[in-house]
Amino acid sequence: MAISLPVCEIDPLERSRGLTNSEIDERISSVKKRLGEKLLILGHHYQRDSIIQHTDLIGDSFLLSKMAADSDSEFIVFCGVHFMAESADILTNDAQKVILPNLRAGCSMADMANLKDVTECWNSLIEKFDLLDPIDRKDPNLPAAENENYLIPITYMNSSASLKAFVGSHGGVVCTSSNAEGVLKWAFKRAGENGKVLFFPDQHLGRNTGLAMGLSLEEMATWTPNDEPEWNALDKSKIILWHGYCSVHRRFSTTQITEFREQFPDGLVVVHPECKTDVVNAADATGSTEFIRNYVKNAPEGANIGVGTEINMVQRLNEEYKNKEISCLDPSICPCSTMYMIHPIYLLDVLERIESEEIPNQIIVPDDEKISASIALNRMLSILK
Ligand code: SF4
Repeated sequence: MAISLPVCEIDPLERSRGLTNSEIDERISSVKKRLGEKLLILGHHYQRDSIIQHTDLIGDSFLLSKMAADSDSEFIVFCGVHFMAESADILTNDAQKVILPNLRAGCSMADMANLKDVTECWNSLIEKFDLLDPIDRKDPNLPAAENENYLIPITYMNSSASLKAFVGSHGGVVCTSSNAEGVLKWAFKRAGENGKVLFFPDQHLGRNTGLAMGLSLEEMATWTPNDEPEWNALDKSKIILWHGYCSVHRRFSTTQITEFREQFPDGLVVVHPECKTDVVNAADATGSTEFIRNYVKNAPEGANIGVGTEINMVQRLNEEYKNKEISCLDPSICPCSTMYMIHPIYLLDVLERIESEEIPNQIIVPDDEKISASIALNRMLSILK
């Protein structure tokens, strides 16, 4: 079933060029050809088709950053959002330049946690609960000794480089939606028996993972900056969840799942762990974008699958698996509005400027942040081994 996406407000850059879509595509293809191996175009799964058709590699944010680091290309054009381009800049070498086609493409979830608010929360928790800061440990990779209780920070990949750096310098670690459980287990061992984990910015990923590990809701209180802290609830918590959320995944509801199941009693429901807990509980399966892709691939022929994630990805899955019926659980269609800011005209604009020896929209993470953020990312990789 073809799904039509909503027409968004036309951006000024789109208007000013006055090119047709096919002219834009042709010009992108020819600049790409001329730049050859100097150029690598990366596309996140949530990008629109008119971008994906020009990308060399498609994937989730961490996979794409790793692919960029493994390549020899000088120009990495990241069709995704700001924190993804930052991660690519952290992992690539100094000769590689990471470029974001539209600098306004941020992530509303990542923007919900900034360094100032997280630092204030961090200091308050350390002081109130008499916790140790791993920044003072000789080797933060070792488990906590008896009677030592630490506060361990975990940041989701979907966060700014400054927060990844904060985490790296405070003995913490980055996680993705596919390894959050392993990372939390690692953190609990480093926190000690009465220690705590501060998890940001996505409350839902933290809560859903904690529940899957057997924690109760009472052991996971939420921290909202500028609100009076609920100290009793925070005191009982093993994980303190930042209040952030993804505006796309928050739209999915149990009502949508009930309606899907009424329509397709044998249907399957798979959702992303950034969805709310009641939605995750009502689904047949939950996992990262890669998990969802594999779930659809492995579903039996003829299956009806309701998916709780971004529409561009769902639409492509539906086109890829013609022997299955794959639909988005949200009938009103939900592209990620910031991912949607990467329009082909922006891609063309940066490619033509690269060709004329400009370096447009380069994302540069300061060296000190890069060093600390790399510690947190490498810690994550060492946990996965
Ligand atoms: S889908 Fe959600 S988490 Fe991903 S970029 Fe968009 S707002 Fe951010």
